[in-house]
Amino acid sequence: MLEVRNIRKTYGREILAVNNLSFHVTEGEIYGLIGPNGAGKTTTLRIIAGLIKPDAGEVLIRGVSLHEVLKNDRRIIGYLPEEANTYPLLTGLEHLKIYGGLYGAGKEDLEFGAKITGLGKRLMEKTSEYSHGMKRRLLLGAVLMTRPRLAILDEPTSGLDVHASVSVRKTIREYVKSTGAAAIVSSHNMLEIEYLCDRVGLIFKGRIVEEGRPRELIEKYGVSNLEEVFTLLVEGVES
Ligand code: ATP
Repeated sequence: MLEVRNIRKTYGREILAVNNLSFHVTEGEIYGLIGPNGAGKTTTLRIIAGLIKPDAGEVLIRGVSLHEVLKNDRRIIGYLPEEANTYPLLTGLEHLKIYGGLYGAGKEDLEFGAKITGLGKRLMEKTSEYSHGMKRRLLLGAVLMTRPRLAILDEPTSGLDVHASVSVRKTIREYVKSTGAAAIVSSHNMLEIEYLCDRVGLIFKGRIVEEGRPRELIEKYGVSNLEEVFTLLVEGVES
């Protein structure tokens, strides 16, 4: 579905945010991009969403360049930015309608999006009355409503409590498994990603330093969770 080949991105002269990074994601797969603050996750996701251009490398969707794909069908990719916010004076439902209007969503798409939000009657309220978790769920519904074949979700559970995080993770899993779409999810919460993702790429200083299925990586390094895998790898890179 998605192939990222040797992408590189520098901000100004000094900051090498993404350094020759490659990975792929297949249909029906949830791929986790995990790493500490400043590792290059958001930059990578913004490149894949077509929002910024890499200095080098390429992004292919089903073998075709991202640029070409987006020119023909913007609906193929859905992107939830890390710091997305809502318009306080608009209701949840109005958000879905506006977002849907941009992507040519029909009535059935709107209903699908509304169901994903799990907000029920509260969709009729202005989002100024929503909690952070409710806003995040609304935005997730707006992004998945048009059933993108590739959902790019930057820190979808950031700032959410345990209950809300579990519910968002469940929604993402159900979406991918029921539509056969692919998803990339970024997080610095490695334990969460361990539960959610089929495969993960551990990103550090703009590079993927290890990749694989969470269980396999944990076994390979003889540790008890992904956090420990990451710690071992980072120590190795820095020493
Ligand atoms: P976080 O987990 O904190 O969100 P991240 O892994 O998503 O971090 P990025 O946001 O991709 O990391 O940042 C990677 C590097 O690029 C950092 O050093 C950051 O300061 C830098 N950077 C990101 N965006 C810009 C920008 N617009 N201008 C200059 N530098 C930037």
